[in-house]
Amino acid sequence: MILEARGVSKSFGKLTALENVDLHVEEGEIFGIAGPNGAGKSTLFNVISGYYPPSSGRISFNGHDITRLRSHQVCHRGLARTFQIPKTFPTMTVYDNIRVGSTFGSSKKHSIDETIDFLNLRDQATMVASNLDLYTTKLVMLAAALATDCRLLMLDEPLAGLSVVEINDFLKVVRKVREERHITIMMIEHLLDTLVDVSDRMMILHNGGVIYTGEPEKIRQDQKVIEVYLGEKEDNLDS
Ligand code: ADP
Ligand code: MG
Repeated sequence: MILEARGVSKSFGKLTALENVDLHVEEGEIFGIAGPNGAGKSTLFNVISGYYPPSSGRISFNGHDITRLRSHQVCHRGLARTFQIPKTFPTMTVYDNIRVGSTFGSSKKHSIDETIDFLNLRDQATMVASNLDLYTTKLVMLAAALATDCRLLMLDEPLAGLSVVEINDFLKVVRKVREERHITIMMIEHLLDTLVDVSDRMMILHNGGVIYTGEPEKIRQDQKVIEVYLGEKEDNLDS
């Protein structure tokens, strides 16, 4: 087990964004997280990655308690993440964006150049980040995270805004990161079929609580998931 959260809650004033969340992630798996808007998915990543401390509960990574560590300390131990809103340093080149990632990380085992080649970003390396299209921006965010030399990578809705072709390309990259770098991946995504397809195990959050953890293939048959998530979802979002 590479990551474990026990009884994790997070409140913002009167709002309870996460309530008593338990989860574990096995080394080497792709762990998918879905749930309606406002369910607490990004908050879960924020709390695990040390962006905010949880209000209660414990988080351990790689056998060590990281509950109270700050984000740079968590990153240093090998846990990296990308953000839901595409973020790069806009005036810097692709190369320098990735270099910033590498300075946050734990070691320089994988050089910046190696990461650029791994993600086929060589032709864009000298481009300024603000000139990139959305797909390439997302690859650069991924590259900056990989350049930290992480063991666990958390991707917050990396597919949002991409075309069908780009989604399939990005998923190939995600699988390649797992296969060739042996990095464990947690991924938030609202396209349920896509997430079922790529994940080894999945979790569904609803109103800050876990309503399902287990095999992706059984999600659509789960009574609770149908009741509180799929019922409303099939009407609105899913195509
Ligand atoms: P999701 O990613 O599942 O859409 P979020 O984790 O972003 O949901 O948000 C869960 C709830 O917590 C929402 O009601 C959101 O408004 C609230 N929330 C998230 N971050 C903050 C914050 N920094 N301050 C106050 N409320 C927040
Ligand atoms: Mg979110």
